[in-house]
Amino acid sequence: MSFATLGLSIPLLSTIARKNYTQPYPVQEQAIPAILKGHDVLGVSKTGSGKTAGYALPIIERFQKRTEPSERFPPALVLVPTRELAIQVAEVFRDLSEHMPQQIKASAVYGGVSINPQMKNLRNTDVLVATPGRLLDLVESKTLHLEKVEILVLDEADKMLNRDFREEMDKILALLPKRRQTILFSATLNPDIKWLQEQLLFQPTIIEI
Ligand code: AMP
Repeated sequence: MSFATLGLSIPLLSTIARKNYTQPYPVQEQAIPAILKGHDVLGVSKTGSGKTAGYALPIIERFQKRTEPSERFPPALVLVPTRELAIQVAEVFRDLSEHMPQQIKASAVYGGVSINPQMKNLRNTDVLVATPGRLLDLVESKTLHLEKVEILVLDEADKMLNRDFREEMDKILALLPKRRQTILFSATLNPDIKWLQEQLLFQPTIIEI
């Protein structure tokens, strides 16, 4: 199997070649075509499986067709449990989209640091990578609006199921459009994740690696 058969366009295939990714990892083989088609995805796979590129590549590809600036309405939202992961995922989006004809702006927002610099940098963000608490602060201060999110990714969802996270997630989910594509990645498939699947995903492609 090669990346060329998965539906990605030439600029992204060149980026992939430049990064010396010779072959797609199994999670990418399955996730990339499904996400490109607009399907919901449930991915059960661990860190190190290549899941980040598995969702970042097709999202970058789909956003090549965007024409309108997003202002303060990001079209893609990636929710993650930790600040480290937020920084890392935004970096993957920047790295993989660096040579694309249409630039993708990825921003990371997370708690534990001053909110003001994050607020200033949000304009025209295409892919917002956020921890739930800080995202809610930004929404409540009207710096950011979630009404135009087209693609929602929950990464390491199994780590966002404790009580505090659940309350925040419920608030965030209530603000998102019902019509959207949802991608859920978890290291395990436990009853809580099955419950999330039932709540959030519509006829998902299920990938278990
Ligand atoms: P992740 O599981 O998303 O944290 O990715 C793990 C590591 O695998 C990252 O350092 C990626 O740069 C690398 N990686 C992702 N996909 C591939 C691939 N197809 N070939 C080689 N390395 C890859």
